[in-house]
Amino acid sequence: MTKVVIIGGGPGGYEAALVAAQLGADVTVVDRDGIGGACVLTDCVPSKTLIATSVRMNYVTDAAKLGINVGNEAEDKDIVRIDLRTVNDRVKRLARAQSDDTAARVVKEGVRIIPGTARLVDPHIVAVGEERLHADVVLIATGAHPRELPTARPDGERILTWRQLYDLETLPERLIVVGSGVTGAEFANAYQALGSDVTLISSRDRVLPTQDQDAAEVLENVFRRRGMNVLANARAESVTRVGDGVQVRLADGRTVEGTHCLMTVGMIPNTSGLGLEEIGVRLDQGGFVEVDRVSRTSTPGVYAAGDCTGVNMLASVAAMQGRIAMWHALGEAVAPLKLSTVASTVFTNPELAAVGCSEADVRSGKVDARVVNLPLDTNPRAKMHGTKDGFVKLICRQHTGIVLGGVIVGPRASELILAVSVAVQQRLTVDDLAHTFSVYPSLSGSVTEAARSLMQASPE
Ligand SMILES: Cc1cc2nc3c(=O)[nH]c(=O)nc-3n(C[C@H](O)[C@H](O)[C@H](O)COP(=O)(O)OP(=O)(O)OC[C@H]3O[C@@H](n4cnc5c(N)ncnc54)[C@H](O)[C@@H]3O)c2cc1C
Repeated sequence: MTKVVIIGGGPGGYEAALVAAQLGADVTVVDRDGIGGACVLTDCVPSKTLIATSVRMNYVTDAAKLGINVGNEAEDKDIVRIDLRTVNDRVKRLARAQSDDTAARVVKEGVRIIPGTARLVDPHIVAVGEERLHADVVLIATGAHPRELPTARPDGERILTWRQLYDLETLPERLIVVGSGVTGAEFANAYQALGSDVTLISSRDRVLPTQDQDAAEVLENVFRRRGMNVLANARAESVTRVGDGVQVRLADGRTVEGTHCLMTVGMIPNTSGLGLEEIGVRLDQGGFVEVDRVSRTSTPGVYAAGDCTGVNMLASVAAMQGRIAMWHALGEAVAPLKLSTVASTVFTNPELAAVGCSEADVRSGKVDARVVNLPLDTNPRAKMHGTKDGFVKLICRQHTGIVLGGVIVGPRASELILAVSVAVQQRLTVDDLAHTFSVYPSLSGSVTEAARSLMQASPE
């Protein structure tokens, strides 16, 4: 029986454990924080639970536009308000329950879980305290942690990482969010909806600099319209506590004052102290484990998956890397990881979901393709819901019409993108999509409509 030891019980680790157990291996997962990992306990699951509350809050604050009177704002400005302690209690309870459910599932499949911190003694021996685990195959899936700036050390009270937000008892009155990537944008949007006065500090000329430009523009406009103070081209140099609040000093000498500051300035891989370099596992300059497309490291028998590899820091990618590692290690036929079909979402309101190649790839000449962008405000269902912001963008190969990618900005774009994902994965054409029935009226009707308009633009 092949002995597999997995270090880290996040999606990279536990999904790999499930596959290895299914294939008949003797599997042990060592984890120091809880099965589900940071994904379930502190990052993805808690943030999306908080965001669920913030989206409901948007429903209430926008209700008047649909004829619902939720109180006289002039008489009682705080008629709808957040009880942050209740919100955070729910977030933490839900995360813990999700971790417990995942652990129970893994154990049911025959996987042994050892709570503790692991390190490699040699490529086939994993140490956990005094215990030595012998392994034919090792998977490193140790994740990553928030990057901290020496001039802006989080104190857990006023200067915070996203992992410390759920211990706040009251809503930050004036929240400054440093960093306008996915995490910064999601939290800025959520706390704005919950009732905080939010300033978002972006070191670039726009928010969400790595996302589709049209999509980022829609979101930035929505943020500003709702009253968010978005500071572009503003690099935060330091964050200090001043009295009961915080002061952020920008590189150009300006200062921004708030009651709290949330730092979202990237991730550092959890790869130090694991004994990796000592056993020949190559790390890149940022400390990420170097892997190939079947998750092999530079040391035979040692695989790596998830955020510690920095390949694409998403739970879905971590899980796929972990599964691929086990299929490969245990002798199954396996297709290498394909990043061109990964779907991702920015969970703002509206959501931004994308899959496949980008319009930037087309504009730069990297891909020979046609693009259509259909605003949602002409979609009948969107009108019924009072949705004005968003669009469906579809990209197909110039001559064959094969769908290469898409971007959707709108409510529940994370769900709507699946149709485009299936098309990209299965190499469907815009004709295939255009001939697919969508429900009338529906937002997904815009996906088939976008496909129809690309058909019309076809040269023959
Ligand atoms: C705020 C936020 C929101 C996110 N939202 C989403 C989202 O909506 N969708 C999405 O797809 N992705 C999201 N992500 C990304 C997602 O959380 C990560 O990609 C995912 O957690 C990576 O999984 P992993 O298994 O690599 O690591 P992790 O989930 O970080 O798990 C690693 C585990 O390894 C353990 N560990 C570390 N070192 C050791 C050791 N030496 N010994 C034993 N155990 C160890 C850790 O304790 C942890 O339990 C989000 C990230 C952040 C920061």
